[in-house]
Amino acid sequence: MNNYQYLEENLAEIRAGIGEVCQRVGRDASEITLVSVTKTVDEDIINRSIELGVTDVGENKPQEIVRKFPSITEGVNWHMIGHLQSNKVKKIIDKVSLIHSVDRVSVVDEIEKRAAQIDRVVDILLQVNIGDEVQKSGADVENVKSLLKYVEGCPHIRVLGLMCIAPYLYDPEEVRPYFKQMKSIFDEIKRENYSNSEMKILSMGMTHDYKVAIEEGATMIRVGTGIYGSRNY
Ligand SMILES: *Cc1c(COP(=O)(O)O)cnc(C)c1O
Repeated sequence: MNNYQYLEENLAEIRAGIGEVCQRVGRDASEITLVSVTKTVDEDIINRSIELGVTDVGENKPQEIVRKFPSITEGVNWHMIGHLQSNKVKKIIDKVSLIHSVDRVSVVDEIEKRAAQIDRVVDILLQVNIGDEVQKSGADVENVKSLLKYVEGCPHIRVLGLMCIAPYLYDPEEVRPYFKQMKSIFDEIKRENYSNSEMKILSMGMTHDYKVAIEEGATMIRVGTGIYGSRNY
């Protein structure tokens, strides 16, 4: 029987990595939330990782959240990190603690409607399409600001920050300018003080580039491969 030794080692390595970068740049490691990305990972492995201290899991498909939800240890925070269509919102609204990938009015409208129905205020991030024209997800800066304006009229939504999926570049150093740009947009929006919004979370950085992301101000990183190994699709 596999006792998932590798999970313990991988988690220790990522935590050490977070600690080492934070120390280097004078941040406190407690400022960083590690979201363990569990797409394609089996429920028993996810539960084992929760025993090893994982508090937040991220999935990119609503149907995968719905399928796994009943088998996963209660109390973990679920994050919807993938492209979200309006017609899928109602499936996940009562399960997730944060939706990272909001980038259009139609999705905002649907979240507001479904959140009102269950009498909850739902936390979201707005996804920014940072420097990647081929990527269809994410709003450009002007659209992000219109969305923030729009959410001022949505009493059941609270925007907690921004998220991006940076372009994949072989050398993580090359991703740094995109992370810097995200941080500057984040700070600018914070100064503009929209209602129903608090800029607290900057979700950026994955296995390959999370260290650079933390150096540039990420408060939440999303790590899959670095914890669970390569994915089998
Ligand atoms: C898969 C995924 C990740 C994690 O990627 P890894 O390279 O496996 O760490 C992070 N964010 C999003 C949106 C993803 O879809």
